[in-house]
Amino acid sequence: MKTVLITGSTSGIGLGIAREFAKTKQYNIIFNGLEPNGQEIADGVGKEFGLQVMFSNANMLKPEELRKMVSDAIAKFGKIDVLINNAGIQHVSPIEDFPDEKWNAIIGINLTSAFYLSKAVWPGMKERKFGRIINIASAHGLVASEFKSAYVASKHGIVGFTKTLGLEGAPFNITVNAICPGYVKTPLVEKQIADQAKAHNMSADDVVNKVMLYKQAVKNFVSLETLGQTALLLAADHASTITGTAIPVDGGWNAQ
Ligand code: NAD
Repeated sequence: MKTVLITGSTSGIGLGIAREFAKTKQYNIIFNGLEPNGQEIADGVGKEFGLQVMFSNANMLKPEELRKMVSDAIAKFGKIDVLINNAGIQHVSPIEDFPDEKWNAIIGINLTSAFYLSKAVWPGMKERKFGRIINIASAHGLVASEFKSAYVASKHGIVGFTKTLGLEGAPFNITVNAICPGYVKTPLVEKQIADQAKAHNMSADDVVNKVMLYKQAVKNFVSLETLGQTALLLAADHASTITGTAIPVDGGWNAQ
């Protein structure tokens, strides 16, 4: 059995990816997130697929909690083979009103937590000559949209971080890649529809059709299954020559 640690996996994309890993029955899963029923969600997936799971509510803004999550996971499962840095938040606002504390939280959660966690799992991966780090960036890791200064900066940052660790991991069979999803209908996006409606002075329906899916050639939200299967491909033994990439899974948004 391999072990995968997925941050922010008690909601949205992280939970969707966890379920795709669970279906293979080849991974122990470490769940993480701030949802108060996180343990229940983790146990539910474990029971459904007959897997060993662990849950940690480590806060991405607290490095000591992140290091403890990694050491607890290693104590329980012996190793971490795959790290998926997925936890993330969004805030939509014109720059002049953008709250300082939102900027710091977005950079801390979306970018800096990946630094702490990658650093913590790295020695074990290097020693075993196997590691897969997958960063859930965004189409906004490759292009920008107005009113998302901190988010776009954090996602471009994680793409740069991915390339750097891809190079550093190459001698040790540690691959590091980013997945760049277009819009996925999760709680993060549901909340953003309301915020964007305010920022653009539009109705919620207009935000979905004229702002969000406007940029995607394929006029559908990206599915959790597509993202989970992309992550599984990157995690595979045979994916050893795919590294340092930022793979758009965005319905053609970045083709334009
Ligand atoms: P979500 O709100 O459904 O889930 C986010 C998860 O992160 C939750 O489990 C939450 O508890 C966790 N989290 C947030 N702050 C945390 C903190 N301080 N400490 C620990 N956990 C924390 O959002 P989602 O849409 O599933 O987003 C997941 C990732 O995918 C994010 O990095 C997001 O930027 C990225 N993404 C989302 C979309 C989309 O359209 N939904 C598109 C591209 C990229």
